Amino acid sequence: MPSDPLVAQHVLEFPGGYTRTTGPVIGRFLSELRARRIVGVRTAEGRVLVPPLEYDPATGEPVTGEYVEVGPAGTITTWAWVDEPLDTHPLDRPFAWALIRLDGADSDLLHAVAAENPKALAAGARVWPVWRDRPTGHITDISHFAPEVTKIVSEVRAEYRLQAGGALRVFLEGVERGVFLGSRCEQCEKVYVPLRLACPECGNTLPETLELPDTGTITTFAINNLPDPRAPEVPFVSAYILLDGADIPMIALIGDVPAHEVRQGMRVKAVWVPESERTASMANIRWFAPTGEPDVELT
Ligand SMILES: [Zn+2]
Repeated sequence: MPSDPLVAQHVLEFPGGYTRTTGPVIGRFLSELRARRIVGVRTAEGRVLVPPLEYDPATGEPVTGEYVEVGPAGTITTWAWVDEPLDTHPLDRPFAWALIRLDGADSDLLHAVAAENPKALAAGARVWPVWRDRPTGHITDISHFAPEVTKIVSEVRAEYRLQAGGALRVFLEGVERGVFLGSRCEQCEKVYVPLRLACPECGNTLPETLELPDTGTITTFAINNLPDPRAPEVPFVSAYILLDGADIPMIALIGDVPAHEVRQGMRVKAVWVPESERTASMANIRWFAPTGEPDVELT
């Protein structure tokens, strides 16, 4: 009969904690951490070791004693994802163990990197330390590293109110009354709508204001397939309309006609919102609708 194996139980215990001296090199590293700095030590060959060591592992020679501040940011050289952290792990959520080459260092520091998921990590990814609130001079003074902030999500809401100055104000006041105001250049005889204060052709001031009819001809148009709250339906048509008597077309929506029936040279007329709803804005014109008149030959 086989005999029971011999068993002896040993307990190794250091009540009150085991205090170990760090030596001058690691001591300096931890003291710097307490001040939220990360330092390396320069080797005889000029490389910077982080964390610092007393001897250069490559040559076995003592290091120089010259401390160099590195990082605090660095680049991941390699990493391993931890799906289920253990009690002893620095983070209580999934994270990565990574070798991090801090800026200015020639060796890698092993530390935890917090990330949403492994897809957020890659060799070459930039990471920054996240410091503990109360550093004590321990490697865990750096709680972990986190990916560099490459984007921010912020609420954007801008409200614009255009203060119509001079010519535009006069034009919109006309629109409120249901008329389009234009201006005629005395020199080149061009008629501009909306009304302007100076002729873009010859630079003349345009003192002469005239009322234009709300009928015109489509010169060019575009069929839009993306919804627009102002449009009657999708697809809808936006067009350049040359008001009768004007030399410059204005842009507007076309309605009351299927998009595929809109054509160049088509005669249209403004469809105004009821007078009681009008304000000094282009919203007074719902859109332009075909008049049924014969098409115009465009020159
Ligand atoms: Zn002119």
